[in-house]
Amino acid sequence: MNLEELDKQYILQTYGRNYTNFVEAKGSTVFDEDGADYIDFASGIGVNSIGHANPTLVSAICEQAGKIIHISNLQVIEPQAKLAEKICKLANYDGAIFFANSGAEANEGAIKIARKYGETKFEKKKYKVITLEHSFHGRTITTVKATGQDSFHTPNFAPYPDGFSYVNEIESVYKSIDDETVAVLIELVQGEGGVQPFPKDEIQKLAMHLKEIGVLLIVDEVQTGIYRTGKMLASNVYEIEPDIVTLAKGLGGGMPIGAVLTKHKDILSAGDHGSTFGGNYMSTTSGLAVLEVLSGLDESGDLSDTIDYFTNKLQDIAKKQSNLFDKEVGIGLMRGLRAKDNDTMKAILANSMNEKLIVLPAGRNTVRFLPSLTITKEEIDEGFKRFEKAIASL
Ligand SMILES: *Cc1c(COP(=O)(O)O)cnc(C)c1O
Repeated sequence: MNLEELDKQYILQTYGRNYTNFVEAKGSTVFDEDGADYIDFASGIGVNSIGHANPTLVSAICEQAGKIIHISNLQVIEPQAKLAEKICKLANYDGAIFFANSGAEANEGAIKIARKYGETKFEKKKYKVITLEHSFHGRTITTVKATGQDSFHTPNFAPYPDGFSYVNEIESVYKSIDDETVAVLIELVQGEGGVQPFPKDEIQKLAMHLKEIGVLLIVDEVQTGIYRTGKMLASNVYEIEPDIVTLAKGLGGGMPIGAVLTKHKDILSAGDHGSTFGGNYMSTTSGLAVLEVLSGLDESGDLSDTIDYFTNKLQDIAKKQSNLFDKEVGIGLMRGLRAKDNDTMKAILANSMNEKLIVLPAGRNTVRFLPSLTITKEEIDEGFKRFEKAIASL
């Protein structure tokens, strides 16, 4: 059996998969089994935040693997405690952290904290969570229900947990809050929904209002976190301090890790929540290496140079090709080109792969760019050269 046949026989076919066999990668260049090079403008899906085979990350992982890979959360884990401290300090966030293995799991943890807060802090239980249309919060039964897209709530997986409702814009959150609402869960820039940032003033006004009325603000930063939007958290860019923040994608640089940050340190107590793997030596050592690299790039100004360089190129294309794109969207290195329709987006994705450039879809018609935050100017130039070829025939 060749690889494609093997995959089709033994892997549950839950993805619409491309069958190029990638075997090696360095920085933002990925090589297939024939040695052909691809420029990576996707970094997984915003996961390889410091590029492929980053020497700081690779040596941290190798060194740690030779010492101790795993114990259990019944023991203290040094890199876990240090990573939690580092996240809080870099985010300027006065809180504590629970480590999980993925974004969905981080959001599950956030919802559990909110539910217990609603149970214990009020005379009459509050449990309802309001989320936004076009949001994405994960693939577990609860986070699917939290995701504000009808297509995800198929009867196939019903019944879903109660207590989730959706609004179509930030301004509609206010009138949806009732005396059973415990939290509002939002992304600041909707990723899967189409790289859609919300206006800063609307978010700040909402954050202030929620604080006044005692409803928790949960910000899902699984995609926006870890310098993706130019600062440690998008919450730093928006200058808000949510009650709960979730992280995952870019934090481990490719190692699976999720995190729930909260300032409400006393809500969960021993036995309330847990994870076998969450925050083990490998994932948290990786997180420390990733943050060492990225905080350095932030302080030196290199990160904002890269963001400017990438963004200028993208905006040029959006201007030159207004026949294909309605607009350029996003912040930091979380960006998109809104194609004029779904067919155009699909054609661009297919052509890009033919030109050996990896880009991503988002929403119905957005071509999404989530390059590594360490991508070089040469790699950016080469990637856009390939992108221009990919769209030339359209
Ligand atoms: C990717 C993503 C998730 C889900 O993360 P997994 O690691 O796939 O569980 C949740 N929320 C947002 C905003 C995401 O982008």
